[in-house]
Amino acid sequence: MAGYRTTVLRHKRTPAVLGGAPAFSAPIYVTRPRLPNESDLFDLIRGLLRSRWLTNDGALVRALEERLRSRLGAGFCAAICNGTTALQVALRSLGIDGEVITTPFTFPATVHAITWMGLTPVFCDIDPASYNIDADAIDAAATGRSRAVLPVHVFGNPCDVNAIERVTARHGLRTVYDCAHAFGVSYRGRPITDWGDLSILSLHATKLFHTVEGGAIVGRTAALLERVALLRNFGIVNEEEVRGIGINGKLSELHAAMGLAMLPSIDDEIAQRRQLTERYLQRIDGIPGIRLQRFPVDMVRNYAYFTIEVDTDAFGLSRDQLHKALRAENIMVRKYFSPLASANHTYRDLPTADPSYLPNAHRLSTRILSLPLYGDLQLDDVDRIIDAVLALQAAASGVRRTVSTGQ
Ligand SMILES: *Cc1c(COP(=O)(O)O)cnc(C)c1O
Repeated sequence: MAGYRTTVLRHKRTPAVLGGAPAFSAPIYVTRPRLPNESDLFDLIRGLLRSRWLTNDGALVRALEERLRSRLGAGFCAAICNGTTALQVALRSLGIDGEVITTPFTFPATVHAITWMGLTPVFCDIDPASYNIDADAIDAAATGRSRAVLPVHVFGNPCDVNAIERVTARHGLRTVYDCAHAFGVSYRGRPITDWGDLSILSLHATKLFHTVEGGAIVGRTAALLERVALLRNFGIVNEEEVRGIGINGKLSELHAAMGLAMLPSIDDEIAQRRQLTERYLQRIDGIPGIRLQRFPVDMVRNYAYFTIEVDTDAFGLSRDQLHKALRAENIMVRKYFSPLASANHTYRDLPTADPSYLPNAHRLSTRILSLPLYGDLQLDDVDRIIDAVLALQAAASGVRRTVSTGQ
């Protein structure tokens, strides 16, 4: 392999936690937002200022909705101010009351959106290989009070959508997919948003495709689009009538301009991340104690995240020790998702939040670690990151003595 000599030398580096120089002189974050072509963005903003139509169903939001709809192969795409509000509007547009079955292995917003709507979250365990909610666990958790399921395509990995469809049909449940990580993913030749009643996107700056802050609801039927459009605009039907409890869920024209200017280069972003992911996979192959999320073969990935699982005994360091030691190298790895959403003090007294009921999710949350991945990360950065991991493994006994994780 090219660079073998430097690789060997880098292994001999003294880890920063043992007094060596950090692998990077400035922090390498787990993600960095993509930026659009500046002149494209400024042209859109200039037009926006001239029009003085800054929000409320403006031309740029409409254009973004149509481009996203066509790009995602959806029936409709309704822009929303953020992914969390998109979850809330999606749940209300389906008229959900009662209990919503969801996963603990997610970003807090998934569960907060349920609770904020006055609904009760019911947690289910995950499949340890895919990290996604387990369809059999949904089947076992469903009761007469269950109204909907809210699964997450974790790190862009499609849920077992066909199994979930069978379970929801049997119990008469609605399905809203949290598609915040799965922009552009397809499964078995179909866009991932083809499954379920509705899917939501987050277009937050940390996501693969973003509008700084933003979100969307993706679905198929005109009737649902009408409900969503009403609910995101206070329920205003016309000057005479306000129907239902709407909210301000609108995306502004400024945010839409950002998305429109970004969209043409999103395939480049995905291609860059794919190349970096392949380098990570090459370099990680054969390192004892590191395991990876399993993706199905019959899908198109979006390479939104790169995560590893750390097996303490086989690797020589715990996930928490590795996390701390890598951060000392200026490699700002993150523990997504730890703590679990179910560990929040508001939820942890729910019977289904009990760790003994969620063994796979709990085990994964002690092992998972997100490594840096974004389009303009360099292949050499990936090499240096993995070299730092290898150097820490080589020095594991010293690192274990030095790094206290309070556990
Ligand atoms: C980011 C994220 C959200 C929330 O989206 P916002 O746009 O930040 O409100 C919801 N669910 C998951 C899984 C996410 O990662």
